[in-house]
Amino acid sequence: MTKRTCKICSSTEILKYCVQQNLVYDCCDSCFYCEKRPEYTSVDADYVASQAMYYENPDLDPFLEPSSVLDEKMKYRINLAAAYLKENDRVIEIGPGRGSFLAWLRSEGYSCTACEQSVVLTKELRDKGFDVIEGEFERLNFKSQYNLVFSFHIIEHVTSPLAHLEQAFKVTRPGGHLVLATPNSASWQQRLLPLLSANFDTAHLHVFSKRSLKLLGEKSGWIHVHDFTFENVSGWLRLFSKLFRRIKGENESMTAGKYANLGATSGSMNKLILLFSFISGPFRRIQAAVGGGSEVFIVLRKPGNGMGE
Ligand SMILES: [Zn+2]
Repeated sequence: MTKRTCKICSSTEILKYCVQQNLVYDCCDSCFYCEKRPEYTSVDADYVASQAMYYENPDLDPFLEPSSVLDEKMKYRINLAAAYLKENDRVIEIGPGRGSFLAWLRSEGYSCTACEQSVVLTKELRDKGFDVIEGEFERLNFKSQYNLVFSFHIIEHVTSPLAHLEQAFKVTRPGGHLVLATPNSASWQQRLLPLLSANFDTAHLHVFSKRSLKLLGEKSGWIHVHDFTFENVSGWLRLFSKLFRRIKGENESMTAGKYANLGATSGSMNKLILLFSFISGPFRRIQAAVGGGSEVFIVLRKPGNGMGE
């Protein structure tokens, strides 16, 4: 049997997590990069299947979450983006979902573009008046370059994370930045209870830590600027809902989003989450500060002029 090697740091210390049938990950014990073993014939087939299941299905809303959770996430992204945005910047967001972050950019007066692969979402975004380049980001030929590229929770889904970072590098102007967020493979949830971690999800072909993202970023030409983790209120709630589903014996793929939907549509559930959010605030801030938050953010800069070089 050939020994598995980490694609990011070349370590041979690989742990195997069998989360459930057909959901198996190889996780590097050194840089924490986790790679899903293809459920279908190949990584490409896996990608096509999950895109179709989640983003081309009008009966399923993968973005539906309680407003308390969404508000907290949005506030965090806006504060971070504001630190890097400059007047007259041209901005692109890869995979903007329903466009809530794009709407904020537009309201602030930035010239913003979206890149979206889903036919359903592209139509919805265009109906909202957004400029959308339709297609798979990594395979497109872009005519323009941007000062800032935002990629929130996309890299864990793509077939080649390296191609994602290389393409982001190509579309960024010299001196410009990439701001990227993804689930954190070094989160407390994954390290304490890996088999219940929301990071291991059919649609997640990869899970990254700060270290593995930094290594991959540098491999694709970027200069590492900053990285940190954030613990959103949904981090622990997702783990509890997974535990609840296991106890009830529910099929996890079939009931994906069930409890998030419940929280999104029930006012009293939303109030409960707000209360949990308030009480858990100090604990979550400590968790994030020591790098254990369930979301990792990285800011990368493209070498060149524009930043005083
Ligand atoms: Zn590694």
